[in-house]
Amino acid sequence: MSRSAQIQGNLAAVRERMSRACDLAGRDLESVTLIAVTKTFPASDIEILADLGVTDVGESKEQEGHGKAEALAHLELTWHFIGQLQRNKAKRVASWARVIHSVDRAELIPLLDSREVLIQVNLDPEVPGRGGIHVEQIARLAQQIAASSLRLRGLMAVAPLERDPAQAFAVLHQSHRELVATYPDATWISAGMSGDLEAAIAHGATHVRLGASILGSR
Ligand SMILES: *Cc1c(COP(=O)(O)O)cnc(C)c1O
Repeated sequence: MSRSAQIQGNLAAVRERMSRACDLAGRDLESVTLIAVTKTFPASDIEILADLGVTDVGESKEQEGHGKAEALAHLELTWHFIGQLQRNKAKRVASWARVIHSVDRAELIPLLDSREVLIQVNLDPEVPGRGGIHVEQIARLAQQIAASSLRLRGLMAVAPLERDPAQAFAVLHQSHRELVATYPDATWISAGMSGDLEAAIAHGATHVRLGASILGSR
């Protein structure tokens, strides 16, 4: 099978999963955006995805994402940065990524040059080093972002390693309700990966980040 046929089949299967999850949750499929996570895969795969109607791609490393975004500048893609954001690379990330999902501390704010951003929430507080802030810290960081040139779009999280993702995504959903009450423009919930997109959609995800289910194992 050609790479293109393989990706097309995988994409149809995940779109079907998304559609079923939306039906179960009583939501419109149009309310969930698929972000194809293309880290470790070549630019040629992204060209195939673009041909198949994918408009949003996610990368998690500055250098790798930067190179692909430059090589594919002729395509009309929205580039999302979903990896942990190092201070010394933040400015460069903001040069190619339109949306940055992983803002988790105020020192990054002045480096991100009026990008659209999400606050990354750590749903696994027992596990250090995973990135993201505790839910109790969201309000303060949101206030700092709102006072800057950045556009606060919502919250992002990765499911916990050991606990039930549905329970964690429910916590995220509740935190998002509180956020959006103060910042009506912050409508996004970026949650759900290949293994847990159903749970994320059930709990309000507006953006799912899918890698392996579309492109294969890394
Ligand atoms: C790699 C990655 C994904 C995609 O995960 P898959 O299991 O391949 O779908 C989503 N979000 C983040 C933050 C990632 O690093």
